[in-house]
Formats: sequence, C-alpha cells, structure tokens
Amino acid sequence: MAHGPGLRKRLDHPGPRRLSKRAEGRPVAGRRRFLGVHFECCNVYARLYINKEKTAYQGGCPRCGRRLEVKIGSGGTDSRFFKAH
Ligand SMILES: [Zn+2]
Repeated sequence: MAHGPGLRKRLDHPGPRRLSKRAEGRPVAGRRRFLGVHFECCNVYARLYINKEKTAYQGGCPRCGRRLEVKIGSGGTDSRFFKAH
C-alpha cells in the first residue's frame, strides 16, 4: 500500500508546562500531617507540620524565619491552605 499524503500532526514540543503548584495532598481521612501555608511576608510557600500533641501546626517562613502557629480547633481546621498575613 502506498503511503498517502496524510496530515499527521507532529507534536514535537511537549507544550507548555504547568507552573502552578498543585494543591497539596488530598483530604486524607483523619490524618493531616502538614498544612500548606503561603507566607505573604516573603511570598513563599512553606509547610507547617503538626506538633506532637496534634494541637497545632507549627513552622516558619523559610526566608525571614517568621514563626507561625495554626492551632487546630476541636473540630479541626478544614482549610488545607493558610495565609499568613
Ligand atoms: Zn517571610
């Protein structure tokens, strides 16, 4: 069989990559190890890790060292992300 002219599209370039970060994690039932935080002071993203008592997420801004603590209420915090103003 002869090869037809065809109109094969060539996708040589991989296309634009997504630069946006994915939302951290999915709702894991009963277990939250960390909380994603956007530190607006330095416009950086970091994680707060849960403390041993599981009463709060604790961490700090990786750039300026500003400390942050997000307490976990009795019902827990539903938001996966937190903004530090
Ligand atoms: Zn900062």
